[in-house]
Amino acid sequence: MKLVGTPMKIALLPGDGIGPEIAREAVKVLDALKRDGLDIAIDEAPIGGAGHDAAGHPLPDATLALARAADAILMGAVGGPRYDTLPRALRPEQGILGIRKALGLFANLRPAMLFPELAEASTLKPEVVAGLDILIVRELTGDIYFGEPRGRRTTERGEPEGFDTMRYAKSEIERIARVGFRAAQKRGKKLTSVDKANVLDTSILWREVVSALSAEYPDVALSHMYVDNAAMQLVRAPKTFDVIVTGNLFGDILSDEASMLAGSIGMLPSASLDAHGKGLYEPIHGSAPDIAGRDAANPLAMILSMAMMFRYTFAREDVAAKIERAVRAVLARGLRTADIARPGEAVAGTRAMGDAVVAAL
Ligand code: NAD
Repeated sequence: MKLVGTPMKIALLPGDGIGPEIAREAVKVLDALKRDGLDIAIDEAPIGGAGHDAAGHPLPDATLALARAADAILMGAVGGPRYDTLPRALRPEQGILGIRKALGLFANLRPAMLFPELAEASTLKPEVVAGLDILIVRELTGDIYFGEPRGRRTTERGEPEGFDTMRYAKSEIERIARVGFRAAQKRGKKLTSVDKANVLDTSILWREVVSALSAEYPDVALSHMYVDNAAMQLVRAPKTFDVIVTGNLFGDILSDEASMLAGSIGMLPSASLDAHGKGLYEPIHGSAPDIAGRDAANPLAMILSMAMMFRYTFAREDVAAKIERAVRAVLARGLRTADIARPGEAVAGTRAMGDAVVAAL
């Protein structure tokens, strides 16, 4: 946790492809906030393919040490065709998986928001999604993805069979549910817990544990929803949700579904938090090698990830809201990178978009 009077220590890990380009724009915004009096210290280190180039590993020891010492980690994106032939243990994505594991980042926060100015970018009708602002809190380190036993075996009839184990311990459910309740307290005070308690024993326990916790958060209205219904409601009436909390498997699917409501992947931030509020903040998109080096990437997902960092790690709602207001003002003025422009509309580059956000701050 950050001590009063010490700078906010941010580890900046630009990564590969468009990663360094969007990181540069994030630094511009941080520099502007510094000029406004925020005490911020930024240290940069390579990760992913850049880590491999610099130190022979996607997560160099020095990078992990820097991430451990920081209050928050701001990451661009990793990966690229140059690294596709490396052995699995040296591939760029191992850098992210390694850092998540080493830092115990168990809570994944994915907002799906659609600025009214971009309502046309969604595949859903503008009236269904304009102004959408929901948050999905997904457990990241348990569930059927990690449960044992798992594997393949042969049935008594000699047929091959695959099997996995869904499991959640009470303590794991409690800690992710608390993240959901606290996030709801900072937002619209509504929490929907998503499970499959009509079929799965794991989900019955999940529902019991989340229900019991709600007594500690009387200001948050808790409801429960089966995952199949949640998938349906997300496209039918997504604006009825505020915060959704769910397990790893259901969250994986629902968060991707929700991100499509918001149109471009260049707009969506994310956070992965540990038990003490330390977090890794990154856009949900990848390194976009197809547009890297062409000043064509949308830096807003990265800049909005930074807003989440101020909200969740540094408890500076004022700074988070200020960044989000600046982004909204820039969009309202009609500035668009190629991914969010309508056909025929004038297109701004990565740098111009970053400069405009700084000016709007
Ligand atoms: P991608 O997200 O990089 O790109 C998908 C499409 O979206 C591309 O057409 C790209 O140009 C576009 N796009 C992405 N971000 C954009 C932005 N900010 N502005 C404008 N357009 C944007 O996914 P991909 O092409 O499947 O993967 C490319 C590389 O990224 C791969 O090496 C993959 O492994 C890696 N990847 C990394 C992460 C991560 O770092 N967290 C996540 C996903 C993929």
